[in-house]
Amino acid sequence: ELSYKTGKQPHPREHRLIFRNIDREGYDPSIECYQKHGGYDQLRKAIGMERQTIIDEVKKSGLRGRGGAGFPTGVKWGFIPPTNTKPVYLICNADESEPGTFKDRYIMHQDPHQLVEGMIISCFAVKAQLAYIYIREEFPQAAIILEKALAEARAQNFLGKNILGSGFDLEIHVHRGAGAYICGEETGLIESLEGKRPYPRIKPPYFPAALGLYMSPTIVNNVESLCHVKHILEIGGEEYAKLGTPNNTGTRILCVSGDVQKPGYYEIQVGKLTMREVIEDLCGGLKPGRKLKAIIPGGSSSKVLRADETYKLKDGRELTIWDIPMDFDTMAACGSMAGSGGVIIMDDSRSMSWVINNLNNFYAHESCGQCTPCREGSLWMKKISDRIVAGNASPSDVDELERVANQIEGKTICAFGEACSWPTQSFVKKFREELTGDTKPDLEGLIKNPESALA
Ligand code: NAD
Ligand code: SF4
Repeated sequence: ELSYKTGKQPHPREHRLIFRNIDREGYDPSIECYQKHGGYDQLRKAIGMERQTIIDEVKKSGLRGRGGAGFPTGVKWGFIPPTNTKPVYLICNADESEPGTFKDRYIMHQDPHQLVEGMIISCFAVKAQLAYIYIREEFPQAAIILEKALAEARAQNFLGKNILGSGFDLEIHVHRGAGAYICGEETGLIESLEGKRPYPRIKPPYFPAALGLYMSPTIVNNVESLCHVKHILEIGGEEYAKLGTPNNTGTRILCVSGDVQKPGYYEIQVGKLTMREVIEDLCGGLKPGRKLKAIIPGGSSSKVLRADETYKLKDGRELTIWDIPMDFDTMAACGSMAGSGGVIIMDDSRSMSWVINNLNNFYAHESCGQCTPCREGSLWMKKISDRIVAGNASPSDVDELERVANQIEGKTICAFGEACSWPTQSFVKKFREELTGDTKPDLEGLIKNPESALA
């Protein structure tokens, strides 16, 4: 057994599957090291199994997508039409770009073969003979590491023709993006892979599992999700489902950033720890003398939670922000989402006007421009919050910001529309006073309509 590097020991409340070997003394990304620690044993097991049994194990495990949407992975695999005669593709979505999210990069840097093994098993299960790792341009080092890992796997016949004598052929290619956040949206990613501008496709009715790359069935899974497949095979779907909580099974990696003493990666059983335990135990608490102000719990697209709020849930629970368990369902019941695991902690030193402006700038820059409400609206929101931050806005600008966000939500082709409007709506709703306090009176409006001063 390898020991963990000094300062990298897992916290006793963590439960490591994906990060089991990451940060260990002497552990490196080579195939020799990976195999010395049980690497590719699960692939050997998988190729002796019925494909449907592997899919059933993943279904039994309850694994939900770790890219952000939390869609059940086994169910997605089951959507490949049974009568399909076209080639099936598998794409690993490594375009990790959600602000506050940085787990996939670390996996690819530290333990690339874990991903490669998870992908080969998944491809075998869904009968994909060609797979891609679509990696964001800003991860050049990870792309090089993966290319090397794939070459090593090919040299040992874990890839290529007749893998380990099973009769199964598979090739995996690394495809580098060109720096656009929208390529992480699975249909934008597919368009990009086809050599086109990454305009997302309308879904429903057709999801990639039925009509994806080159109009063939395509499974798009996140890096962390694909790594879990290996561990599900190792311990079995039922055992895996005992980790975490019902409907929120297994482990997941939280990326905690912001105003805590020890930001970083923490792999925990889903839903077993509350926000308090994450902040106070894992992250060593808030910074000295500071108070919690707000949390963005699941990457920048999730709605902000205010520190002094209480959430009354349908099941009768009444939770403060501190009591929320870190799982998909409770976070959704509290009006936000667990998303991609990017937990952003903000203390009372933070200006909410600055935060929402920062997010508005990001989304305005990244909108692909295909739909008018998103293309124009994201830019309007940026311009309005630019004015608020600069102290040049009038109080009515805060209402305008909310109106524009409301005009985007639900009116666009892809979920980017919600991703840019939800944070704005929630910041205005929950921090209206602070945002308005950063504006200056509308003197022109007051002269024209003095009554408005009383409104
Ligand atoms: P989605 O709910 O539309 O889809 C989730 C997955 O399930 C997709 O693969 C989709 O094809 C599949 N699916 C859903 N319904 C289906 C059906 N009826 N039939 C077949 N397949 C079906 O969500 P999305 O737009 O893919 O993702 C949104 C999420 O992405 C956000 O919640 C956000 O957290 C996350 N996100 C993550 C990052 C990151 O860097 N990790 C970046 C941006 C956004
Ligand atoms: Fe592009 Fe925005 Fe429309 Fe998505 S919602 S397709 S990002 S313009």
